Amino acid sequence: MIRLLAVTWLLATALAAPALAQSLPPNELGRIMILEYHKIDYPEERWTRTPENFRRDLETLYARGYRLLALNDLLDGRITLPAGMTPVVLTFDDSSPGQFRYLERNGTLEIDPKSGVGILESFLRERPDFGRAATFFVLPGASRPNRLFDQPEHEGRKLQYLVRQGYEIGNHTLWHANLGKYEEATVRAQIAEAQVWIQRHVPDYRPRTLALPYGVYPPEVGWALRGTAKGATYRHDAILMVAGGAAPSPFSRAFDPVRLPRIQAIERDLAYWLAHFDRNPDERFVSDGDPAAVTVPGKWRERLRTPLPRTLRIIER
Ligand SMILES: [Zn+2]
Repeated sequence: MIRLLAVTWLLATALAAPALAQSLPPNELGRIMILEYHKIDYPEERWTRTPENFRRDLETLYARGYRLLALNDLLDGRITLPAGMTPVVLTFDDSSPGQFRYLERNGTLEIDPKSGVGILESFLRERPDFGRAATFFVLPGASRPNRLFDQPEHEGRKLQYLVRQGYEIGNHTLWHANLGKYEEATVRAQIAEAQVWIQRHVPDYRPRTLALPYGVYPPEVGWALRGTAKGATYRHDAILMVAGGAAPSPFSRAFDPVRLPRIQAIERDLAYWLAHFDRNPDERFVSDGDPAAVTVPGKWRERLRTPLPRTLRIIER
């Protein structure tokens, strides 16, 4: 009886265990999750993930074979993950204080270990192979507490730290303007001025991506893609929405950088998508370990985008 129970338990565990990516064949036409975080704070609610839950998300992703990929690398089709791993992109909107906070202790500044950046950094010390990447869609001109993480004396230090560590800064407009409501001059000013204000702190940094406040497009999408206003020229390689599910592979015909979907990193949605890829492992992007090659299932070859984002060798399996 005990033996039977043990066997039943083993079987149940095996069935419940998620498919490990390491055991999956490469498929670089699979989909990629671009996760969207808002507040890292208490209590857990619709737009807030607690520090503990954020940490757990990282652990869950790591254990299931996900590794961090920079958004700009996704756009460039530069997938540098080891074979068998699945990329995941982290994004943080609205520069709220819990995303990145400094604490002063005995006269020295340290990153709050309970803020988003602190949690990421401590996780990376334990698991350096998780990769260091995230994009922060900041609001340089918002009112408190969303103005550049809400520590005015450390604004510059934070943006410089992010860039130095290889994180990305994205445009989210100057103060979260609903771009669907304004005429062209205001839309362009909101975007250009955000860049000017970011570049006050990181002068040579060019934000390559824009996240739409409320997910609302301007009347003409071209206004958000490139232009000149307020003495600045901006050019975005991608526009991110606030929803829409997992993104197509950057090598797929379905990949549209002007309409990049995201998944809101809340308990229910994250669980849904992790389970989705466990049930449908064919849909999951799995790296072949070679940034110079794109490995695709032979039957999917016609799904490849032309031209590809870089000079890449195509391997059918
Ligand atoms: Zn926002």
